[in-house]
Amino acid sequence: MFRKLRLGDVLRKAGLIDEKTLADALDAQKQKGGKLGEYLVSAGLVREDDMLKAIAEQVGVPFVRLKHYAVDPAVARILSEDICRKNHIAAIAFGDRAGQVLTVAMDDPFDLELIDNLSKMTGLSVTPVVSVRDDIRSLLNSVFAVEKSAQPVEPELYLVSRNGDTVPLVTEGVESMADLLLEKLITQAIRENAQSLIMEPRRSYLQIKFRIDGFLYDRTHVPVQQYLALLAMLRDLSTREQLILETPFDESFVVRLAFGEERMELRVGLIETVLGTKAVLHLLRRDMYIRDVSELGFELEAFEIFEKLMTAPEGLLLVCGSSHSGKTTTVYSVANYLYRAHNSFVMSIEAPMGLLVDHFNQLHPTRNPDFENADSIVLRALRQDPDVLLIDRLSTLDSVPQALFAAAVGKFVLCTYFAETAFDALLHLLDNPKLDRYTFATQTLGIVAQRLVRRICSKCATVYHPNLEELQKVDMLDYRDYDFYCGAGCEECFGTGYRGQTGIFQVLRFNRELTEMILRRSAIKDLLEAVEQTGMMNLRSRGKKKILAGLTTIDEVLRETYGEERLYGGPRTAAG
Ligand SMILES: [Zn+2]
Repeated sequence: MFRKLRLGDVLRKAGLIDEKTLADALDAQKQKGGKLGEYLVSAGLVREDDMLKAIAEQVGVPFVRLKHYAVDPAVARILSEDICRKNHIAAIAFGDRAGQVLTVAMDDPFDLELIDNLSKMTGLSVTPVVSVRDDIRSLLNSVFAVEKSAQPVEPELYLVSRNGDTVPLVTEGVESMADLLLEKLITQAIRENAQSLIMEPRRSYLQIKFRIDGFLYDRTHVPVQQYLALLAMLRDLSTREQLILETPFDESFVVRLAFGEERMELRVGLIETVLGTKAVLHLLRRDMYIRDVSELGFELEAFEIFEKLMTAPEGLLLVCGSSHSGKTTTVYSVANYLYRAHNSFVMSIEAPMGLLVDHFNQLHPTRNPDFENADSIVLRALRQDPDVLLIDRLSTLDSVPQALFAAAVGKFVLCTYFAETAFDALLHLLDNPKLDRYTFATQTLGIVAQRLVRRICSKCATVYHPNLEELQKVDMLDYRDYDFYCGAGCEECFGTGYRGQTGIFQVLRFNRELTEMILRRSAIKDLLEAVEQTGMMNLRSRGKKKILAGLTTIDEVLRETYGEERLYGGPRTAAG
């Protein structure tokens, strides 16, 4: 009631409506529901422009014409699309240099509750400016448009030969059922944004599954005869030399695909099970591997620390996590950033290969049979004098001591490592007898631990209120009255309620104290204390911020950060 009166008063004072019109409008609005301002505008009683200007003047908030305003999309994306669209708001700038004040354009600056919620969500203080709703909408459209441009007509699928020619997957005239089936399956997998297509032999049929955003989904069955034909076709493909980009392992090969404008790689791996050959077809897409570093999913203050680490001239940056936690995407994105920003000479050592990237000089151990071990391959790489050395997925080799050696000779080194948390990685490495403690303590810039959580589908995101048990599980009882989001399931997300993934990150930056403690061989509990002193937050707390921002769900964060405390996840800073 208070709000309604205030808006009415403002408009009356500004001479935009008279007493009677206001009273009538209030009555009508009571029957229809909704906001008074919306009613006045839709009924043509007040021009939206005039109303907003009057409001802005009255509450002492600037009126901003967004059309004349250049908005950084990275800033706009601080708030999730669904929250922006639902409330007709858009983040447009930082109000201060430190990035602690977020300026948000809204058409209803009286909505103090919303402002308060936004500030809780982002951890920033929020200052409103007033803008016209249509302008806010077109800004949101331009910022969030990229994901939406779904192709209306299904593009055709081609193979791309080594010299760049496109070759039909199905040769005209000789197409078989298996050819057509394979084409159909791959097209469907691409359309569903699957990471891989899995063909699993059962006793009497072949089970087809897709892995989407890290989860397996059953898709269809194929009778045994077709399955044998499918396998024969894949084996035949592996012999077409002009198409094969790489044969990293036995019975595994990589071909390039063209799907409309998009180019991607298909890595086919075959393995014999007791019921027959199992095939896994990984679809490697550039936008999954190389993203702008600002789009990896770092929250603002974590990104500030990360930025310091990734722009250091030399030293080792470790990126850890379990499998499917997005480590490769992170190191590729950083290396790509360094290439773009400083024209850095990037060299990588990877086995198996991630994506083929033209401007990385990628080394593959099995391509170079004389690389007997990590020592020799790293030494050979260093003789080429790269600025940036990327070491990824050398799970069989002791890569960290070698990475440290490269850092010690003055390179910037990115290295992935299997560990659940940053502190876990620290302890594990300190336990490695091959690790030179001094080099480790002095050459390591920091350790990043990460997970991927699924993003709530923006098409079907809906508000819901978790029950107390759920809130308790994630230690968020203080948010009983808060609007949480989840996906209801729609066509766009194939009923899962999720679409795409985003990272949650824990960033440990080595400081002098920690370095000294490592050298002094301090006790674990003292090390943990020193790590906490650096201000590192645990992954779950980071995940909570994503929940509050409406980007992911409690379930996702709980699953991905399970057991973190047992593994020295680090301080539990309260979310918010
Ligand atoms: Zn959906």
